[in-house]
Amino acid sequence: MCGIVGYVGKRSAQDVLLDGLEKLEYRGYDSAGVALTQRDGIRVVKSKGRLSTLRSKLEELALPQSGCGIGHTRWATHGEPSEINAHPHCTDDKSVVLVHNGIIENYQELKAKLLRSGYTFYSQTDTEVAVKLVDYYYKKTGTPLEAISRAMLRIRGSYAFGAIFKDYPGKLFAARKDSPLIIGKSENGSLIASDVPAILDQTRRVYYIGNLEIAELSRDEIHF
Ligand code: GLU
Repeated sequence: MCGIVGYVGKRSAQDVLLDGLEKLEYRGYDSAGVALTQRDGIRVVKSKGRLSTLRSKLEELALPQSGCGIGHTRWATHGEPSEINAHPHCTDDKSVVLVHNGIIENYQELKAKLLRSGYTFYSQTDTEVAVKLVDYYYKKTGTPLEAISRAMLRIRGSYAFGAIFKDYPGKLFAARKDSPLIIGKSENGSLIASDVPAILDQTRRVYYIGNLEIAELSRDEIHF
């Protein structure tokens, strides 16, 4: 289980995510990635190995500044350390993008069901099953909160999730079960993180998400 950081606010999400993930490096990881909201959708950038490799990749890409995104450092439990298995994971059209800490115990059963519903899988991770399950319910219900809560009812195991949706560019969603996840509120935005050191530079106002609770964050508001 490794690191999650998410941010929505006035600052550059890329900077906040990379700085936050750096603070979680001490926990160990094998790959890293970020997803950033852009004008034309969500951009996902990942790399195997050190966070500095991801940072260089992002510097080379020089994406337009984004005010919303999620980042992850992975400690592989399902599938080898690789760029494909690195988080964030997403749907083919990148309408739903998600990072995950923990282990989904019934991922094989859920994957079989999603394959029957026409989903394709590219990684060996349990996490890709989670994002596609959320998407399945999102297509059915049309709302992120309903989709996440329905997926939570189906998933067995432990998880901390951070998610963004293409149709909701200024919003960040978080949920957890038996895996730590906190929320921070600063003057310039809202944050999620798997551990306090990731956001201490930004704020000391920290809230703990309850087990099986879902949070919806925007720049100025947080709803549980
Ligand atoms: N089970 C997930 C994976 O293997 C998440 C690992 C983690 O917590 O970093 O990708």
